[in-house]
Amino acid sequence: MGLAIVTGGSRGIGAAIAERLAADGHDVVINCASSVDKAEAVAEKCRAHGVNAVPMQWDVSDHAACEKALAEIKEKLGVPYILVNNAGITRDGLMVRMKEEQFDDVIRINLKGAYNMLQLCGAMMMRAKQGRIINISSISGMVGNFGQINYCAAKAGLLGMTKTAAKELGPRGITVNAVAPGFIDTDMTANLSDDLKEGAKKQIALGRFGKPEEIASVVSFLASDNASFITGQTIVADGGMI
Ligand code: NDP
Repeated sequence: MGLAIVTGGSRGIGAAIAERLAADGHDVVINCASSVDKAEAVAEKCRAHGVNAVPMQWDVSDHAACEKALAEIKEKLGVPYILVNNAGITRDGLMVRMKEEQFDDVIRINLKGAYNMLQLCGAMMMRAKQGRIINISSISGMVGNFGQINYCAAKAGLLGMTKTAAKELGPRGITVNAVAPGFIDTDMTANLSDDLKEGAKKQIALGRFGKPEEIASVVSFLASDNASFITGQTIVADGGMI
């Protein structure tokens, strides 16, 4: 089993992914933007599976910070076998009222942050001639969503990056895939109004929001040998919404 890096692993979907990969037997680096205590709590749960788990704070949108973190990871833990680009934010608002900063922040963290990690880990994995990269996109990037032009652009961009990286890294035995979750119960969706939540549930065939563990199991599959001939794909896990 190899080393996994999960960006945004301190909470929500990322925390569930880190725990699941630990249960699968991988050592895990749990990245966060600021909530180091939460990342350490996730690491503690991972360690209960008998693996090494290390919380690490850095901003994925800062290329130099990603480089520094990866140099430290390589020195102390080795070359990552799995990268899960999960870190993400929302800064919702209607397009005509959206501030430039709202647009830029989401593109910088959700899209460029994933690119930074993809580029740097991709180079390390190429030398190792193995690796699994999984980008957490969203159904919003596939069908659009009211009030999320920034987020939808970033998540659609991630799908294009996934396909391109799959082509460039495939010859070295590295797979690159995306998961597109629908509504999942996390801090990100906790503040949505009850009306919006009820309206969304009516559009979901299974009639409920998903659990972070239900995204983690898809990531676990894509990181496993069972998915060895799958690359450049997007797996939708939305309870039948789109
Ligand atoms: P949460 O808001 O619960 O957690 C976000 C995570 O990202 C936190 O760990 C946070 O760290 C981290 N993060 C934010 N900015 C940065 C940064 N600049 N550098 C490093 N880490 C950062 O989100 P979810 O678990 O809900 O979402 C996880 C991913 O899944 C996101 O990419 C999201 O877009 C996607 N997704 C979520 C859906 C949902 O319904 N929840 C649906 C579809 C996709 P910290 O704790 O330190 O702030």
